[in-house]
Amino acid sequence: MTVQKESMIVLIINAGSSSLKYQLINMHPDAHDHDVMASGVVERIGESQGKLTHKKISGQKNAKFIKEQQINDHGIAMHLAAGMLTDKDAGVISTINEIDAVGHRVVQGGENFNASILIDDDVKKAIRDNYPLAPLHNPPNLTGIEVAESLFPSIPNIAVFDTEFHQTIPQKAFMYALPYEFYEKFRVRRYGFHGTSHKFVSNSAADLIKINKEELNLITVHLGNGCSICAIEKGRCVDTSMGMTPLAGVMMGTRTGDIDPAIQKYLIEYTNLNAEELDNIFNKKSGLKGICGMNDMRDIHSAANRGNERAQLALEMFAYQVKKYIGAYVAVLGSVDGIIFTAGIGENDTVTREMICSNLTGLGIEIDPSRNSEVSSEPRAIHSGSSKVQVWVVPTNEELQIAREVVNCLY
Ligand code: ADP
Repeated sequence: MTVQKESMIVLIINAGSSSLKYQLINMHPDAHDHDVMASGVVERIGESQGKLTHKKISGQKNAKFIKEQQINDHGIAMHLAAGMLTDKDAGVISTINEIDAVGHRVVQGGENFNASILIDDDVKKAIRDNYPLAPLHNPPNLTGIEVAESLFPSIPNIAVFDTEFHQTIPQKAFMYALPYEFYEKFRVRRYGFHGTSHKFVSNSAADLIKINKEELNLITVHLGNGCSICAIEKGRCVDTSMGMTPLAGVMMGTRTGDIDPAIQKYLIEYTNLNAEELDNIFNKKSGLKGICGMNDMRDIHSAANRGNERAQLALEMFAYQVKKYIGAYVAVLGSVDGIIFTAGIGENDTVTREMICSNLTGLGIEIDPSRNSEVSSEPRAIHSGSSKVQVWVVPTNEELQIAREVVNCLY
């Protein structure tokens, strides 16, 4: 008889500049199973009216609890969340001492981390040293860590980096063709993001396709508000579309994706905009929104169906750019076993998947229209019987991946 490791209650924290998301997961390491116990989000931290939305989950049943009050900082946000987790109505544990470990999403690990790690002073220093590479994300991520350390002083905190999955990318793929000293002195290189999502869906795909991940070549296509695509060779990421920042790659909801870098100088010269204003436009007013004024794919499809030509153009540009990356990564990998679609658009948008995969029969990629149009929240194959490459839709679960990393790190 195998001895079962006791189940482990893991709190996942994803701290943003004015928000804090959390999820409490009961992991059963030996049974490779888990239960999500509760989740929540604290928004508008630091503003006059903050809001906590907490979901208590038992089996198929969810109960929602909302608290609105001023929430001055992440410390207060975390105290409120802990209060919800132990509340007599909203709670799912009787005391916070039932939590065994905390897993933190950290966006930028630079070149310091190629695995998740137990947080100590050196890890915190490295997260701080990477502030210049992720000025909007790493500072609140570290705040989340420090708040958790003070609230749960006796349990381990583990950092899980968005960038770690991409640390296997070879130098020829992560370098930019700039003076080499920019890499040496200023760490200018491709880092990649969405690593926990690409890792989760590629591991799931190996189980679904029933081939060991060490023998499997995949292209994972994460299409949400942010979009990134990965080439994964025998379980190791060898290229990804996002770059030094999450602005690069395919066009996204509001981000440009790849553009000619000389456009910035040109616009500074011929408009009244300065570099900072353009950076804001490239991040928040471009992509789908820049082309048609909308960034929610559902709205864009409705508008295109009503004859809105800009919406139609935005859809065509988006599908074209994703298709180009898939083609490039087929060339990078030489042979591909599977293409995996995930995230909001990848999981739900039948039409966009069809547009992306159209005319790819020459690359051995063919989807089955009726399988593709099935609506489901389960992982599913959508390729045709004659497709050489399998095409799957696999819902992502970044929180579960972080919880798995926590368990792996501690056992
Ligand atoms: P985030 O990157 O913020 O986590 P998501 O993964 O939730 O984003 O994806 C958000 C995107 O998914 C939005 O563009 C949204 O319109 C799109 N989306 C969600 N559901 C559907 C749907 N049923 N059909 C088309 N697009 C959808």
